[in-house]
Amino acid sequence: MQSSSVTTETVLLNGAILADPTDCRVLPHEKTVIVGDKLEHVNVPNDSQTIEARTIDCSGCLIMPGLVNAHTHAAMSLLRGVADDLPLEQWLNDYIFPAEGKYVSTDFVYLGTLLSAMEMALAGITTFADGYFHMESAATAATEIGLRSIVAQGILDVPAPDAPTPGSWLARVQTFLADCPRNSLVTPALFCHSTYLCGPDTIRQASEMAQENGLLLFSHVGETLWEVSEVRSRYGLHPVELLKRENALCKDFVAVHATHVGGEEIRVLAESGAGAVHCPESNMKLASGAAPIVQLLNSGIPTGMGTDGPASNNNLDLLEELRTASYAAKLTSMDPIALNAKELVAMATMGGARVLGLEDKIGSLQAGKLADVIIVDMDAPHLTPVYDPVSHLVYSAKGSDVRDVIVNGRLVVRNRGINTVDEGTVKKDVRNFAGRIAADLGLGTEYGARMFNER
Ligand SMILES: [Zn+2]
Repeated sequence: MQSSSVTTETVLLNGAILADPTDCRVLPHEKTVIVGDKLEHVNVPNDSQTIEARTIDCSGCLIMPGLVNAHTHAAMSLLRGVADDLPLEQWLNDYIFPAEGKYVSTDFVYLGTLLSAMEMALAGITTFADGYFHMESAATAATEIGLRSIVAQGILDVPAPDAPTPGSWLARVQTFLADCPRNSLVTPALFCHSTYLCGPDTIRQASEMAQENGLLLFSHVGETLWEVSEVRSRYGLHPVELLKRENALCKDFVAVHATHVGGEEIRVLAESGAGAVHCPESNMKLASGAAPIVQLLNSGIPTGMGTDGPASNNNLDLLEELRTASYAAKLTSMDPIALNAKELVAMATMGGARVLGLEDKIGSLQAGKLADVIIVDMDAPHLTPVYDPVSHLVYSAKGSDVRDVIVNGRLVVRNRGINTVDEGTVKKDVRNFAGRIAADLGLGTEYGARMFNER
């Protein structure tokens, strides 16, 4: 074997493994071998002689597939904490959209995505689906951190940071599709914000472009009651019916939130093959409502987990999101059996992979699949003792319990430290950028925030 091949080989030894999240069986682990970007052998006897490979001892740890964050707006980490405790429409119209109009640039998207991708990597997220503006810059940042990303270019009928005049989204999308890389780590996609900010013509045109180019099309669907009533008052249709009328619904469509969908809308979504993403913390924080998650799963709709953007969550910890999802489902149904730990771990891995059309490549640990693997340290006081590792993942663990993260065969996080960028430099750059926003908006002084930002 040539030395270049040897240096790309990583061997995981010992610990326990959850290879297939659809059955969630945790088995004793002997040896897993990663060669290049793929899993060569998964949990095979440790009797071969591997020479010069990088070996990671996973004793006391759980080896599992990387988490899939199926919906976020990563760059919004630069607006984390700018405005909270507001309903969605007021939060968007009075704070987020004006701030975005003023500050969102290629630099903003690059830096905000760099920060978020770092946060996600440290919390065990190996793939994320992002919807925002200037998405070439998001792709650059995600690649620099080493995460797998689906970068969906935002489309609005109102002025957007990178498409300031009505209708200019079309030219913007064409530029994006020409410039955005398409490789094993980056997949371009489109993101029609919602049926209240994208009219029927825009939805139809965007879905035609997505289908012609083999791209996923994301949209916030039925997020709030206000949205449903607004879209009904304009078109006499539920957002799902409007999307169906404009031929947007298909297996490459992703309905984000699906909070206010009834039996008929769920049936229509299921029939179309579309996927859904559950973002309970954002839904709770903005008091948008509780998605009928059990019904969505029972209908067979591929469903993943999402954090939504870091300005409406306000972190990107998907393990924490699983706990919230379970508690919310149990509370709203008054049923302690609703949405169990196994279902949630499956949603956060294979579920997300299915939504993103990547189920043949990621989502489980299987020889021949891409090597997106996380190693969760089960040694913390809050994880002791262990009777059921899957229960711990959902009900006790935090993102910071993830010790090592491998994406596409590359060791991105080792011993809870990011390997690919200098964490201190990224945070310093973010504080500098945020300092300008804070000074401009008059934020931060009364809360003593300056002492944290002026480091
Ligand atoms: Zn969103």
